Amino acid sequence: MPGARTCVLFSTPVRPKGTQVGGDASCWQAGDVDDDPKPALVISACLLGVACNHEGRGSPRAVVEELARQYRLVPVCPEVLGGLPTPRAAAEIVGGDGADVLAGAADVLVVNIEGEDVTAAYRRGADAAVTLALATGARRAVLKARSPSCGSAAVYDGTFSRRLVPGTGVTAAALRDAGLEVGSEEDAAAAASTTGDDHPGASSPGPSLS
Ligand code: SF4
Repeated sequence: MPGARTCVLFSTPVRPKGTQVGGDASCWQAGDVDDDPKPALVISACLLGVACNHEGRGSPRAVVEELARQYRLVPVCPEVLGGLPTPRAAAEIVGGDGADVLAGAADVLVVNIEGEDVTAAYRRGADAAVTLALATGARRAVLKARSPSCGSAAVYDGTFSRRLVPGTGVTAAALRDAGLEVGSEEDAAAAASTTGDDHPGASSPGPSLS
């Protein structure tokens, strides 16, 4: 196909700008993504309102509109990518945080409230998120605060009692290991409201959201 380009996510051609995706569509992305001057930003899909959290709900945040003006958003739900269903049993990291999980600490597991070890799914989701970040060239991520996957500054302590401890979720840790700057939607909102710069930075636990 004349003018075909390669999709950033799949090794298949993307149709030139202005053409319609028809029955023989080769990629879900019909536009010419290489012409978008905005940098890629990995973002928790639930922050865009995608109903992918453990309760089958989204967590839409107004700051996403501002982020979308400055970045090419790359929505990711690591728990779904890891193969978990939606809705699903709530899970927490027991014995440490996401960095410990990635380090393979034997006594650090992600366990759901029914007592099932879901560590492997969390690791798969983190690997998938890193793959997407590298494929899209993202150097920054805005991830949902306090999630056992996406938390970037604090996570629940594994007792299902809403107690927070400093640390990161599994995917947040993996993206940092891959060289991304990772912050939360709260960091982005605070930065946008005080400086007009919504780049994620250091974060604090803040109030529980859901
Ligand atoms: Fe998915 Fe992360 Fe949102 Fe949880 S916090 S629903 S893992 S995107």
